[in-house]
Amino acid sequence: MDEADLANDRAEQFTADAVLAARAKMDTAPSTGICQACHEGIEPERIQANPTAQLCRDCAAEAEAARKRSQRVGG
Ligand SMILES: [Zn+2]
Repeated sequence: MDEADLANDRAEQFTADAVLAARAKMDTAPSTGICQACHEGIEPERIQANPTAQLCRDCAAEAEAARKRSQRVGG
């Protein structure tokens, strides 16, 4: 384990926390057009398809992966 690995672990945890927090707000608030995890703009067509989208496509995919991971860990 070197410095880069540690940094990657922290970055991954931060992202997972952010996307899970964003996910908790999903379906309750209209999209701001800004991804709540990476603060990039959410794709306009994504917002058209899902007006409450809180995450960009990449982070939504990460959120889904994090959800599956947490389900597996939680049993
Ligand atoms: Zn994002």
